[in-house]
Amino acid sequence: MTPDDLLEEHFRLQGDQKKALKKIGLSTVQDLLYYFPSRYGDTAEVTSISGSEIKQNAVFFGKVSGLKTSKGFRSKIAMAEAWLEDESGRIKLVWFHQPYIAKMIHEGASVRVEGKVTERKGERYLSNPKIETVVKLPLGVGDSLFTTSDTDHFLYPVYPETQGLTSNWIYHALQKIFKSGIIDTLTDPIPEDILKKYNLPTLHTALVWIHSPKNQDNALSARKRFSFEEVFFIQLQKQQEKQKLLKTGSFVIKPTKNEMADFIGEFPFKPTAGQNGAIQDILRDMGSGHPMARLLEGDVGSGKTAVAAAAVYAAANADLQVAYMVPTEILARQHFESFIKYFSHLNVQIGLITGSGCKKFPSKLNPDGWTTISRPQLLKWLANGEIPILIGTHALIQKSVKFKNLGLVIIDEQHRFGTLQRQKLTRKDALSPHLLSMTATPIPRTLALTVYGDLDLSLLQEMPAGRKPVITQIVLPTERDATYEHIRKEMAAGRQAYVICPRINEPDPNKEAVLNVKSVKEEAERLRKKVFPHHRIEILHSKMTPAEKEKIMGEFEEHRIDILVSTSVVEVGVNVPNSTIIIIEGAERFGLAQLHQLRGRVIRGNHQAYCFVFAETKSQKTIDRLKAFKNAKNGFELAEYDLSLRGSGELYGRKQWGLTDIGMEAIRNIKMVEAARNEARQIVEEDLELAHYPILKKILSTKKEIHFE
Ligand code: ADP
Ligand code: MG
Repeated sequence: MTPDDLLEEHFRLQGDQKKALKKIGLSTVQDLLYYFPSRYGDTAEVTSISGSEIKQNAVFFGKVSGLKTSKGFRSKIAMAEAWLEDESGRIKLVWFHQPYIAKMIHEGASVRVEGKVTERKGERYLSNPKIETVVKLPLGVGDSLFTTSDTDHFLYPVYPETQGLTSNWIYHALQKIFKSGIIDTLTDPIPEDILKKYNLPTLHTALVWIHSPKNQDNALSARKRFSFEEVFFIQLQKQQEKQKLLKTGSFVIKPTKNEMADFIGEFPFKPTAGQNGAIQDILRDMGSGHPMARLLEGDVGSGKTAVAAAAVYAAANADLQVAYMVPTEILARQHFESFIKYFSHLNVQIGLITGSGCKKFPSKLNPDGWTTISRPQLLKWLANGEIPILIGTHALIQKSVKFKNLGLVIIDEQHRFGTLQRQKLTRKDALSPHLLSMTATPIPRTLALTVYGDLDLSLLQEMPAGRKPVITQIVLPTERDATYEHIRKEMAAGRQAYVICPRINEPDPNKEAVLNVKSVKEEAERLRKKVFPHHRIEILHSKMTPAEKEKIMGEFEEHRIDILVSTSVVEVGVNVPNSTIIIIEGAERFGLAQLHQLRGRVIRGNHQAYCFVFAETKSQKTIDRLKAFKNAKNGFELAEYDLSLRGSGELYGRKQWGLTDIGMEAIRNIKMVEAARNEARQIVEEDLELAHYPILKKILSTKKEIHFE
């Protein structure tokens, strides 16, 4: 066995297992060694079935039997039932609304079950208990004697399971791998002096400790090592990118002070100190002779577009072309129109390219308006340099789109794009163009240092003057009517509203558990019929065609629609200043960062704005989270709060950042992130190509590109 061997060479895999392994990205022996338990169970927490008491929150270990699905006698609710048996007795298990559980667990499986002991008509049972299969049962269970004495309790690893792949299988597969002695042959990728300096266990020790720890300390120490390792490699990669960029040449863009002041003087407002600062940062970068790689981070509504416009002006003024990429067609069109305003006094051509067509400003017939043009026409004018500013969606990075003299690339809402796409734009020419990324996703500092390690940062920390903070209210079900009444008044005063629902369609009746979650279509119907019969209500969601979406957004902007019922597609960047109310249904289903983005939709104008949060939950944790959302002063505060509160694995969906769960653990530890960063920087600064670090070099070259989504 070698680390690079495919798992199927050593294990007989069923179809389901193959699929599951592929889905979670495990193909080699090495991959499995790096698949870590999400937690450890401790058999010491166990109760005996006969010794348990009514209303007790109990943990049982035992064997399952009598698995079946059934329907509630009167309610007709689909449910799963089973018996759990240990040495002391047996107890019934019932799962309402979750008939699939009967199919997930095997008859006779050894399991750990946790739940509240309940009694009904003299029979005791656990209702909706947590259940997981376990590797082996504590001594005594299933044997002759039930005992929980100290000597026989142990920690057992619990691996994240997916359909077709149990924690149990993973455990046994790993046992086999360990027995093969393969871990003795692995080379530790972290240089020895670094391990010593930070007191981290070697690869060998850490692998043993993480998969079968003797105690919690071992497990922790091993996890620490692997999270360091992950961040260290990300940092190496980012620092390498950064150093390479510093050695590359780019266009020198140096507008005069007067030119810039004139352009900014045309803004319909006075820029904030943050906006001015960011513009200075950008001009300094673009004048340096090396490609700019800057991230502009600012809450929704903080005015990033104006900063971008200043950068665009500087580049266009130097006879260079600009590509401005945004994630959706709606946004592309909106930016096209705001850029027409920003540049209207300058006689500059602006192009728009999206999947559904192209436009150009100004139109020959109407110098104040745009016209629709064909794609080949637009591409021609782009290639000969006639159009200096091009705004677009992904359509912008297709091969056929060629610039004559691309000097600046701007990526708006950059967290929606992958690094790969970013590079497609940045590497088209021999000279690297300047890059400005923008994002409204406030993330904790540790995460920013890691995933944006290659970028310089400018922050817009204040909102433009005159903005009233959004009034946020958590609305109880009993207060719904009063809230609707308030909204009617606002609409009578000429305002508009968003209603955000977590889903598009009515829920599938077979999945009763989600019945309470509102859908866009249903809710729009209900609002039309029962709540706001005198207002114009339309829907918007991701399954609509771009043309349909554009039509609806256009009508909403022109106030031919009063209420837009939508999924979270409006999350990104949409700007309708007259819309001052946002209702978020099923708010417990959205992450804090997402809620914050949604609320950002209504801080565009100068009218008082409201955010009404409807949550169908009684969970204290959720209520606390929503309270934090209500009270937070800005997105950064919320991001840090989210990090401290939630399991780091859940943080904004780690997938978005290309980190594993264990990598996310490092994100909670600023010292570790800084250590990994410093070590990586030192190595790269001394030895950019890692000539003296063949192992690091090899690992980096085989590592998949770290990218978002
Ligand atoms: P975001 O940072 O979310 O992209 P935008 O650039 O869309 O924000 O700006 C939001 C709104 O604020 C726009 O209507 C814009 O014209 C306005 N705005 C931007 N900067 C200022 C400012 N300094 N003073 C007043 N309004 C501003
Ligand atoms: Mg924006």
